[in-house]
Amino acid sequence: MITENVKRLLEEIPATNPQGERVRLVAAVKTQTVEAINEAVAAGITDIGDNHVQEFRDKYAGITGDVRRHFIGHLQTNKIKYLLGKCFLYHSIDRLNLAEELSKKSAERGITSDILVQVNAGNEETKGGFAFEELGGALEQITALPALRVKGLMAMLPFSDDQILLRELAARMRGEYDRFNALFGGFEYLSMGMSGDWKLCVECGSNLIRLGTSIFGKRSA
Ligand SMILES: *Cc1c(COP(=O)(O)O)cnc(C)c1O
Repeated sequence: MITENVKRLLEEIPATNPQGERVRLVAAVKTQTVEAINEAVAAGITDIGDNHVQEFRDKYAGITGDVRRHFIGHLQTNKIKYLLGKCFLYHSIDRLNLAEELSKKSAERGITSDILVQVNAGNEETKGGFAFEELGGALEQITALPALRVKGLMAMLPFSDDQILLRELAARMRGEYDRFNALFGGFEYLSMGMSGDWKLCVECGSNLIRLGTSIFGKRSA
């Protein structure tokens, strides 16, 4: 099941987005067992993303193969230490003090951490991230931090059937990505798209999608 899902997705996901950038797939592995994750990796998954630090830690040693580990969930500052040096890309930098703490801890460790700044594209109370209006100011402060490299933006679009709204938000995200890349430079990833909306997101210029359900099936928890 997982093997077939991964093979089908790897065929289905276009190699590049309309901007000609390579589209990358991160498997969202929250609640999945090490066995399920290893099956996905054997089928061709190269990148996995965790939401919970505890799961990241518990499964770290058990994942076979050369996979990049991403963190895609809400991160508490007191748990940064468990991810330092092990996380290829932090997608969910959603507040200034988290960026400051991650930079400080990275500097103490003598490393630089690659991050994405999370945008609350749908302005939802239940989601983290900066509003579009706050993004410029936030990026100015975060790009100035010594031990972080801002590699782009991340967003979770609202759960909605309104395709027009979703396209509008996804296109706006791409617009902001281009605008701020022109200003600050160094962007590589626009992390946007989950099982329900990834096609639309790639069509609008996402180059990194995070899929859970379409790889592992419906989560029970
Ligand atoms: C769970 C999760 C995903 C994947 O969601 P699916 O709908 O299962 O594909 C992507 N991104 C984040 C941040 C998630 O928490």
